Amino acid sequence: MKHNSSIGCSVSECNFHCKDDNYCTLDKIEVVKHSQTANTVECTDCGSFKKS
Ligand code: SF4
Repeated sequence: MKHNSSIGCSVSECNFHCKDDNYCTLDKIEVVKHSQTANTVECTDCGSFKKS
């Protein structure tokens, strides 16, 4: 499967996940924070996620 070598991703539940080798197949993703201020890695997420 063709993927973006710059975006590694292990979210196998996503529609855009490259199951062959754990990459994202999108050209660009939006990384978002889901708290007012991001202090830890848990505060950030992939905003381009779409349930497969
Ligand atoms: S859209 Fe986000 S969650 Fe989905 S495969 Fe790409 S990086 Fe992973």
